[in-house]
Amino acid sequence: MGTIYAIANQKGGVGKTTTAVNLAACIAEAGYPTILVDADAQANATVALGVSKLTQPSLYDVLSGRVQARDALQPTSVDNLRILPAHPDLAAANIELPREPGSETRLRDALGPLRDEATYVVIDCPPSLGPLTINALTASDRVIVPVQTEYFALEGLAGLLDTLSLVQRELNPNLVIAGMLLTMHDGRTRLSLDVEREVRQHFPELVFDTVIPRNVKVGEAPSYGRPVTHHDPNCAGAGAYFELGREVAARG
Ligand code: ADP
Ligand code: MG
Repeated sequence: MGTIYAIANQKGGVGKTTTAVNLAACIAEAGYPTILVDADAQANATVALGVSKLTQPSLYDVLSGRVQARDALQPTSVDNLRILPAHPDLAAANIELPREPGSETRLRDALGPLRDEATYVVIDCPPSLGPLTINALTASDRVIVPVQTEYFALEGLAGLLDTLSLVQRELNPNLVIAGMLLTMHDGRTRLSLDVEREVRQHFPELVFDTVIPRNVKVGEAPSYGRPVTHHDPNCAGAGAYFELGREVAARG
């Protein structure tokens, strides 16, 4: 039985997609069959793995009930890693889902069969607390919250934690916060070190030991359609995502 992870934070640009792609790639490279689900209509995770964002069928067709999730999976250049791609038309789901009562469990029902296909399923969430994120949190066993190591890092986290409690209470009592992940950390700056200390003080149990450094190779890998572990396996960013994979697996 596979475990489903959501990568969520309503803020944009905090490293959700980068984490979803590279964590999924590291776990897959460690030998675990893994599926990345792109739940953002921007389709950045899809493109970052070298798959066209016009690929069909996509997650939108799965959510609409026209296609089974396993029939929408695409191979990637990474062994053991497949992707359920997003298409720009997924944006329509934000309008369509709320119109239908009970649609919060649509993704959970659709992804259920993937637990037999993969040890890990990783969902890249959009930058909002809208219907697709709620669907992702309802479908997941665990959530990882990337937190950019910058001045407004803590802002919005309280709202996110409220939403997580609401989902736990109303929709998914099994949801566990796997951890908060500090991203784009720059150990040379006072600000990064201050923010790291502050986040660790606020959430002592929750923050992963692994910190993702700001790293040029991590930023440029998507333009080559591959995870950083293939783009430059020896760079600091790749090392950090391998370490995160081990920490995630160890936390269970
Ligand atoms: P989100 O999915 O939360 O919107 P992204 O993962 O797309 O955030 O990251 C936002 C931008 O920051 C992207 O251009 C990405 O390539 C870049 N980025 C993310 N993490 C790093 C990192 N560790 N080092 C350098 N650039 C990064
Ligand atoms: Mg993203």
